[in-house]
This record gives sequence, structure tokens and C-alpha cells, in this order.
Amino acid sequence: MNKIIVAIDGYSSCGKSTIAKALAKYAGYTYVDTGAMYRAIGLYTLRHGLTTEAAILAALPKIQIGFILADGAQHVTLNGEDVEAHIRTLEVGNRASEISQIKEVRAFLVAQQQQMGLQKGIVMDGRDIGTVVFPQAELKLFLTASPEVRAQRRFDELKEKGGQPVYEEVLKDVNDRDYRDTHRAESPLRQADDAIVVDNSHLTREEQMEVIYKHFENACK
Ligand code: C5P
Repeated sequence: MNKIIVAIDGYSSCGKSTIAKALAKYAGYTYVDTGAMYRAIGLYTLRHGLTTEAAILAALPKIQIGFILADGAQHVTLNGEDVEAHIRTLEVGNRASEISQIKEVRAFLVAQQQQMGLQKGIVMDGRDIGTVVFPQAELKLFLTASPEVRAQRRFDELKEKGGQPVYEEVLKDVNDRDYRDTHRAESPLRQADDAIVVDNSHLTREEQMEVIYKHFENACK
């Protein structure tokens, strides 16, 4: 069967990575979580106290992002260190969203992401995959869910990890991040013209995957 590129875009916390991972497993493809790459850079800037754009740009050549398999899951590495356990916080998510507005940061990561897709057989999720990274992708999915549903999912996830989230704060964070992601000057989140929209507000995981596997099979023909 032909190997293809699958681009999955959508708002934060709408289950992109769960879906992308499941599809990659189903297809035997490589999965790449581009949000983790922006988060790793965000973490670097927090750790080094870099706040100005000039300081962040000067640091870029010193930042190496990679992926490793650890305990059967994909973990992102920052200059060789497995930072998976440090990048899923609200603080790092917000910083990632801020630094992702910088043109040069995007160019730095987009070039690496395009390199990863040269052999095809890849499922990549993010905000600009179908529009900027792989406009030629054979299958583009755009996921949506209501802000309230996404805030609840994020709240449950943070709680499960031992945090003490406040629902209203998580909802505000989801709305703020949506605003930033869709209004930034550089590669704002938008649906590619040829993307298939999947609204999963009221779909079970199984129902959703069934729909997505069908789209995948069709795209491979
Ligand atoms: O998907 P995730 O929430 O992990 O991404 C963190 C942040 O990185 C997002 O809020 C978004 O601003 C940014 N991002 C991006 N482009 C991507 C992936 C993530 O701008 N392809």
C-alpha cells in the first residue's frame, strides 16, 4: 500500500495527540507531536530566563530537539535530556504558545518537521501541519470540540497527574490559547481548504477512530 502523510491540526486539548497516536499505530507509521517541540523550546526559555525575542533567537542554535522511545511511548528530548515529564504543565504550554508566535522559531521547527516527512509514512499533529509544513499531505484532518468540552478534558488530565486545577482557570486558558493560536501573524491556526473536519465534542473515542480509519483507508487508495 502507498505510504502517505497524515496532517492533523486543531485547537489545543481536542484530543489530537491521542488520535494521531492511535492512527500511527493502526497504520504502522511514525507519529510526531509538533506541540512537544514548541513546548521543549518553551521549557528551555523558562529554564534560562529568556524573555526577549532577541535572547530567544540567539539561543536557537544551542537548542536540539529530538524524540526517543521510552516505556513504549514517544518522549521529546531537549539537548539530549528526556523532558517529557516537564513539558505538559500550563506554564510551559503558555510559554510554548508565546514563543510559537516568533517567525524564526517556527521556521526553525518547520524545517525539522519537513525533514521527518521525507520518507512519508508519518502522522504529524499540530496547528500548521496541513497548511504550512505539509500542504501536499494526502490526508488532512482538522479536529474541533467545544471549549467547554476541551477544558473539562484538560482539567481531568491535570487532576489525574496529581494537580489541583481550577475549572474556570483551565477554561480561560483554553480560550486564551485559542485566541492566540488563531490570531497570530505567523501561520495562524486555520483549517486547510482540503481538510476534513472532525468535531469530536459528542463522539466516543471508538466512534471517532472508526471515522478516521475510514478516511485513512480512502486516502491510501
Ligand atoms: O499541541 P500543544 O498544546 O502541545 O502545543 C503547545 C503550543 O505550541 C500551542 O498552544 C501552539 O501555540 C503551539 N504550536 C504551534 N504549532 C504547532 C504545534 C504547536 O504553534 N504545529
